[in-house]
Amino acid sequence: MDKRGGFEPREMHKVTCADCGKETEVPFKPDADRAVYCRECYQKRKPPRRE
Ligand SMILES: [Zn+2]
Repeated sequence: MDKRGGFEPREMHKVTCADCGKETEVPFKPDADRAVYCRECYQKRKPPRRE
């Protein structure tokens, strides 16, 4: 197995982004009642954070 810095592979679920409609994969089980976003849209929706 190719382990990289303790990163654990997770089960990915195919979903369609509720924002842009792009097909993407998320590392959690998608909730039918909840909108799921691709990484891009998810980042977009997150409030900007100061480092
Ligand atoms: Zn998207």
